[in-house]
Amino acid sequence: MNDAPEISLVIPVYNEQDNLAELIDRCLVSCRSTGRSFEIILVDDGSRDSSRSMILAAADHHQEIIGVILNRNYGQHAAVFAGLQQSRGEIVITLDADLQNPPEEIANLVRAMDQGVDVVGTVRENRQDSCFRRIASSLVNRMVQQATGVMMHDYGCMLRAYRRPIVEAMLQCSERSTFIPILANSFAGSTTEIPVSHARREKGQSKYSVLKLISLQYDLLTSMSTFPLRLLSFVGAVISLCGIAFGLLLMLLRIVYGASWAAEGVFTLFALLFVFIGAQFIALGLLGEYIGRIYHDVRSRPRYFIHEIKGTGATTSHR
Ligand code: UDP
Ligand code: MG
Repeated sequence: MNDAPEISLVIPVYNEQDNLAELIDRCLVSCRSTGRSFEIILVDDGSRDSSRSMILAAADHHQEIIGVILNRNYGQHAAVFAGLQQSRGEIVITLDADLQNPPEEIANLVRAMDQGVDVVGTVRENRQDSCFRRIASSLVNRMVQQATGVMMHDYGCMLRAYRRPIVEAMLQCSERSTFIPILANSFAGSTTEIPVSHARREKGQSKYSVLKLISLQYDLLTSMSTFPLRLLSFVGAVISLCGIAFGLLLMLLRIVYGASWAAEGVFTLFALLFVFIGAQFIALGLLGEYIGRIYHDVRSRPRYFIHEIKGTGATTSHR
């Protein structure tokens, strides 16, 4: 095997036969323009058209291209992971195969990387997606910012660059549902964002239906935090407090208006009920808290990774 290249490009491909030829050409030109050594890893995510044979042919033809063929369709992020696993470059850049993210931006990403940051994100200028997609993704971006505390404006755009240690850290995460840009940010020491242009999908169709998008949002939310579980306890406490307040109000009104007003104790029963319903929610939240802990442990994300160790006999490690 020859030496590791400086840049690895990882591209997931699912039924993109109409885009592949142009994609490969433009990526090769763009990577060559950076003047660095590079490899292009095309991951075929179980395509049912001729993408697979096109990738194999390209890998035969160009020594910079590596084809990774998955046996069936596993989804975009799983495919990118498969590509990351094969990548060797110090800088790893992910990209969609549909040419919505122009490969010509690669040089800009590399330039931003040279400033020494761990992750370079991108913000799509004049985004060419439907209005629904734009609103949905702005909601998600805001939610992610709240939950992770990492400021990035556009999580939906897969045109991103990662430094090797970040990639290694991600590969050590054994969880099944992952959203790569967020996972990367949870390990990144420093990040930056650059604006990139965005094109309409010219050929083929988007692989994401509304249902698939919704399921992706759930993945996103639950992979980021156990906050929804905590919400249960909070809701329970609010219901219980309302029940207690209601009971007190009933007591007061009964003193003022007499026994016949309170419907012979039916209202009081409601107040009691609220208190108990609230208590149940709190108990659920408590259970959730333990489940959250189990979830964190099962994912076994690396707790930290060391950037550098200096001294006699020390070796650099990423864990
Ligand atoms: N993709 C994949 N597996 C899938 C779905 C999509 O590898 O199951 C790839 C697809 O080929 C493309 C990228 O993921 O390179 C983004 O897909 P798409 O453009 O359909 O998503 P959108 O831009 O609509 O979010
Ligand atoms: Mg697309």
